Amino acid sequence: MTSDKTVNAGCRKLVVDAGVRMLDSGLTVATWGNISVCDRDAGLVYITPSGMNYHEIVEDDINVYNLDGELIEGHRRPSIELELHLGMFNARPEIGACIHTHPIFSTVFSSMGQDIPIDVHDEAAQALGDSVRCADYALPGTKELALNAQRAIGDKANACMLRSHGLVCIGADLDAAFKVSTVVEMVAEILWRIRATGGDYIPISGENVAAMQEFVKTKYGQY
Ligand SMILES: [Zn+2]
Repeated sequence: MTSDKTVNAGCRKLVVDAGVRMLDSGLTVATWGNISVCDRDAGLVYITPSGMNYHEIVEDDINVYNLDGELIEGHRRPSIELELHLGMFNARPEIGACIHTHPIFSTVFSSMGQDIPIDVHDEAAQALGDSVRCADYALPGTKELALNAQRAIGDKANACMLRSHGLVCIGADLDAAFKVSTVVEMVAEILWRIRATGGDYIPISGENVAAMQEFVKTKYGQY
């Protein structure tokens, strides 16, 4: 299939390298999870193939779609969650990457259908945009799953959970989406450990959550 839109080899490499990073990070195991990036200038989405070993995937295995889901280039069967990724890119025009993983502690909360609140921890307040809500259950790879995830993530959060399944994280680029994935999993573990003591966390005030969000937007890091 051909198109006047330009396929970018660099984007393919980003997805290949991110697959190895995802596996090595422990956020998922075996061939589970999937990764995509969106080149907004060209309106193209690059996504990992279905069921392939992340250490064996090469650039040629990365299919390319437009935002309507039409195959532009590629010969692999794509991740079954292609709809989920396209849905995120269409619903949130400011993002450029989406990572879906099955990390243990986040999946504990997803399997209980419980949200992970943003006011548990400073890093959550700074990185997650909003509480991490758990989407209603739907079978993997379905349009319903994609729509449930869009509803759960809304227009502010950088992550949501898929019930009894795993985690979806988004960001301006892959580094941002990886950071969100790591923070959600860390906060899920903290929350789980707090509850294991029989206690509960002391919520950070809404005012302080907002102050940290503003700080990250305007003053954190280098010029
Ligand atoms: Zn999954």
